[in-house]
Amino acid sequence: MSIGTKCVQGGYMPGNGEPREVPIYQSTTFKYASSADMGKLFDLEAEGYFYSRLQNPTCDIVAKKICELEGGTAAMLTGSGQAANFYAVFNIASCGDHVVSSSSIYGGTYNLFAVTMKRMGIDFTFVSPDCTTEELEAAFRPNTKAVFGETIANPALTVLDIEKFAAAAHKHGVPLIVDNTFATPVNCRPFEWGADIVTHSTTKYMDGHGSAVGGAIVDGGRFDWNAHKDKFPGLTTPDESYHGVTYTERFGLGGAFITKATAQLMRDFGSVQSPQSAYYLNLGLESLHVRMKRHCENGLAVAKFLQTCDKVAWVQYPGLEGDKYYEIAKKYMPHGTCGVVSFGVKGGREAAERFMGRLKIAAIETHVADARTCCLHPASATHRQMNDEELRAAGVTPDLVRFSCGLEDAEDLIADIRQALE
Ligand SMILES: *Cc1c(COP(=O)(O)O)cnc(C)c1O
Repeated sequence: MSIGTKCVQGGYMPGNGEPREVPIYQSTTFKYASSADMGKLFDLEAEGYFYSRLQNPTCDIVAKKICELEGGTAAMLTGSGQAANFYAVFNIASCGDHVVSSSSIYGGTYNLFAVTMKRMGIDFTFVSPDCTTEELEAAFRPNTKAVFGETIANPALTVLDIEKFAAAAHKHGVPLIVDNTFATPVNCRPFEWGADIVTHSTTKYMDGHGSAVGGAIVDGGRFDWNAHKDKFPGLTTPDESYHGVTYTERFGLGGAFITKATAQLMRDFGSVQSPQSAYYLNLGLESLHVRMKRHCENGLAVAKFLQTCDKVAWVQYPGLEGDKYYEIAKKYMPHGTCGVVSFGVKGGREAAERFMGRLKIAAIETHVADARTCCLHPASATHRQMNDEELRAAGVTPDLVRFSCGLEDAEDLIADIRQALE
């Protein structure tokens, strides 16, 4: 099946007389005939459901669809994108370990890594997404356990050279984790370029309608944990907290990562996505391929218009010819990038805020990648905890407006921007 068909039909194939639409299993628990049956589930010897903190049929159906879209071997839903990125990294890095991350990432992820996970004893080295291979290599340490980056960074719109980062990660025996939120699997499938784990904030384009916060983790199934056994004891040696199971032995390279993240991290941290949210997410996924096309068309039209405005200092959009990331975006995302355009209003921070206050169609929201056009001033919102130097490293200037083109008609969005600028 090609990507659009997977969006519509992936993950769920009802049998004779079963519901055509994905059912919402709004149940915390599941019934068994004997304690022995239940025991097998706890020992991970039989597949089945017992408690929705660990697994739920609705969530599993939707995770399976996202897994198919990314071309992975296993996937899980999480309660948010933050939980997805936390689990993806914490599943293989513990106190005393180190991770190499692109500096150009979502503000919440930066805070998670640089502040909260640092408090847990995990060190992060941030490198520019544009760094040379030598600079990237220099960031690794003997205790490095993963490399992290975003396909298209929120909000800086830098594009990750996935092949370059994957090659460096693999040379050092660690996986590359890619947050593919902005591109979505419709426009880029990082596994095809060497990434090992993909994460999503499904809150964005996948849901697409501002209905439900959620996240997902997908395993590409190709990283050989056993070839680097000493680095990943959590996957390759018995888990005493889970009946002595060795995840790589029992679930193979395709299933070990997600099973461990579910059995350990979801068990202990419990950042579940609700079945109701997963249902909304599935509705969004059914039209993802249709919507992404329109988001990209609107993004390009708005970026081209902004380029002609003398009150606009600069425009960044990876789909725009002449953009710093145009060529690399064409390589990884030949059919389009996303609907988010970043630009600076002449006059800096104050002018940016004044401009945003005059917009009539585009709403000021701490949101992005929605059916309705929205915009945000990151320096005073999502990134306000950063100092100027950290802001620059994250590709965020004080005048940056993040403008997320929705599904409206491009001429209306352009007219709205024109009147606000005037
Ligand atoms: C929004 C976002 C996140 C965080 O996701 P939540 O669902 O808000 O927790 C992570 N990564 C990227 C790229 C995002 O845009």
